[in-house]
Amino acid sequence: MNIADLTVHAVHVNHRGNWLFVRVRTDNGLVGHGEASHSTADHLLVATLARARSRLIGRDTSDLEALFLEMARPNAGMVAWTAFSAVEQALWDLAGQAAGAPVYQLLGGRCLPRIRLYANVNRAAANRDPLAYAERAREAVEAGFRAVKCAPFDDVSWKTLDDPEGRRAYERGLERVRRIREAIGDEVALSVDCHNRFDVPTARRAAKDLEPFRLYWLEAPVPPWDPAGLAQVKAGLNTRLVAGEELLGRAAYLPLLASRALDVIMFDVKHTGGLLESKKIAALAEAHQTPVSPHSPAGPVAHLAAAHLCATLPNFLNLEYAWGEAPWRNDLVGGAEDIRDGYLTLPEKPGLGLALDEKLLAAHAVEL
Ligand code: MG
Repeated sequence: MNIADLTVHAVHVNHRGNWLFVRVRTDNGLVGHGEASHSTADHLLVATLARARSRLIGRDTSDLEALFLEMARPNAGMVAWTAFSAVEQALWDLAGQAAGAPVYQLLGGRCLPRIRLYANVNRAAANRDPLAYAERAREAVEAGFRAVKCAPFDDVSWKTLDDPEGRRAYERGLERVRRIREAIGDEVALSVDCHNRFDVPTARRAAKDLEPFRLYWLEAPVPPWDPAGLAQVKAGLNTRLVAGEELLGRAAYLPLLASRALDVIMFDVKHTGGLLESKKIAALAEAHQTPVSPHSPAGPVAHLAAAHLCATLPNFLNLEYAWGEAPWRNDLVGGAEDIRDGYLTLPEKPGLGLALDEKLLAAHAVEL
């Protein structure tokens, strides 16, 4: 089975931007899907795939390792890795369709009957007022989620934290967390993503200020390329420390794992090389007795691809779900995202088990 064509389809989601889907057609008439959202530059992503298209046409769809070596080079950067990762997801979708089996069966079979999710409410919180933000979290809990994540520290930087304006932004971030905890009660797990905004001393200060809100985890207080800094933050922290979402490929995780700074490793199937590379990263983490929680703040195609992988991981903790972004999200994948009580049940159809709705794809299409 060879690749016959590759197309990119962008849809506009909301104030936070677009989802990009890749469609790979084969010479025997199958169509596979992958997702290439949040690469940092949608137009460059489209240009990268347009250039890769002629090289991909005619290639065997089972050549995952060879294509990884060609397209996801160590120094290639986020856009190139995201482009490859989307093609890789589509090739798994095709392999499953050709075999008549769901993708999780090809990745080793499942350890879990359903996938535990947590609701990231940050992208749904267009209104950043602490009470309005907390309302989004309350709605997610009302929809059945038992775990919520926020990214409250808008405009905060360790470089300006002691300036009056920087201080105000920081206090407003804390106020968002306080209001969310009030809104969701004590029983729901609450995590805070800091988006690498702190240095070690200010991260320690933030961790102390966040203690009253009894976090489930503290995410990315300092960048993941600073494992020594993460280890310093970890010392004295009384919640889990999580990071790694932006790293590309298994080698990038070695210093983090060796530092033992993290309680949970994060990777993103749509940036880090796809499902096979993510499986290798999860295996490295497992060998360090460390659970994994895939980063998944984008659309339903990458989310379902990640869910197929998660089902096969012995050290899986939970999977991110971008809650409340677009009411047509599940319809876009033909209802394949079966989410109830904060758990996702995987589709049993061959491949990823989804079909993109052509009408919705056209209705929300955006030119890049
Ligand atoms: Mg994050």
